[in-house]
Amino acid sequence: MSSPKEPKNPSTELCRAGVVKDPAYKAVSPPLYLSTTFGWDDATTRPPFDYARSGNPTRALLEETLAELEGGARGIVCATGMAAIGLPLTILSPGDVLIAPHDCYGGTHRLLTALAKKNHFEVLFIDQTDKAALDAAFARTPKMVLIETPSNPLLRITDIADVVARAKKAGALTAIDNTFMSPVLQQPLALGCDIVIHSTTKYINGHSDIVGGAVVAKDASLGEELAWWANCMGVIGAPFDSFMTLRGIRTLSVRMERQQATAGALAERLDADPRVARVYYPGLKSHPGHEVATRQQNGFGAMLSAELVSDADTDKFLAALDVITLAESLGGFESLVCLPDSMTHAGMAPEARLEAGITPTLARFSIGLEDEGDLWADLDAALAAAVG
Ligand SMILES: *Cc1c(COP(=O)(O)O)cnc(C)c1O
Repeated sequence: MSSPKEPKNPSTELCRAGVVKDPAYKAVSPPLYLSTTFGWDDATTRPPFDYARSGNPTRALLEETLAELEGGARGIVCATGMAAIGLPLTILSPGDVLIAPHDCYGGTHRLLTALAKKNHFEVLFIDQTDKAALDAAFARTPKMVLIETPSNPLLRITDIADVVARAKKAGALTAIDNTFMSPVLQQPLALGCDIVIHSTTKYINGHSDIVGGAVVAKDASLGEELAWWANCMGVIGAPFDSFMTLRGIRTLSVRMERQQATAGALAERLDADPRVARVYYPGLKSHPGHEVATRQQNGFGAMLSAELVSDADTDKFLAALDVITLAESLGGFESLVCLPDSMTHAGMAPEARLEAGITPTLARFSIGLEDEGDLWADLDAALAAAVG
């Protein structure tokens, strides 16, 4: 391996994740260390790994990979995406103000609401694409801002650089949930964010067989503080899950490239189809966040939502799909569809759902690696069944 470290293309970093890092045998695929504890030479010299909650060699490889990809000083692998969302909240004290997106991931909304109710901090849920709402919220001198862009399920785009500039002026930390983009398509630390959060369950692992999360901190001292809390609370990820995620992440850039190309093509076909009332995809010129997305993303991603015409029969639409699976979650190799109204966003009040643009005929798609023609044939047949 070359000694002076030169930055490589992310696809190379991804492909080489953990490869030949085994100090014992130069194993190409790194070993999975399951041991909970590690031997000491003497009672005063702490070994590199002592107890597996504090550190594990397999998890460390994934943490190094994620830190490198996001351009941060420190990665922390957590048990789930929700554990990763919860980790930076440990920085907040009672009375601190946290700004969060009103349309953030449902589990995030639930966690922030529940902790705020217990006075762990005060949370202001706002539309972060609304400048007046941002002005009002930042007037409250927040301690932290949480961003999530593109949002779910309408793929609304928040201008990261604008929120970061406001946060810096207010002396607030910026944390961003980068799950929908992955480090391949969006680099929030380079745009000035302090903390990046992932549900690695989604694109990073990409194979729908592991639930996991990660936090990457831009600077070392913040990384230390978060790693201290992760060890203290024990929210860390399991070695087996890290092993599987390292295996999945090596193909992230090729998966992303193919999945977003197919998603872009399907978005255009759906957009031109009279059986579809509206398509939400940041790659479409008609999308309100198109310009910002073009500026801050390296691509438009593989998530899209489509609102069928109002008299469409969504039960028939879903039943007629043969290739695309009806299931929650996203970011895997396989195409999934869900109906946010009765599935992922069922916990929202009906009026709040409608106000957010989530109609009963809105379908959210996570586009996978299947052939584009086969996916379109599936959608075309299902639309014929629904609007018939
Ligand atoms: C899935 C998801 C989470 C939660 O992650 P889990 O791994 O399910 O705990 C958080 N944020 C976003 C954007 C997600 O899609």
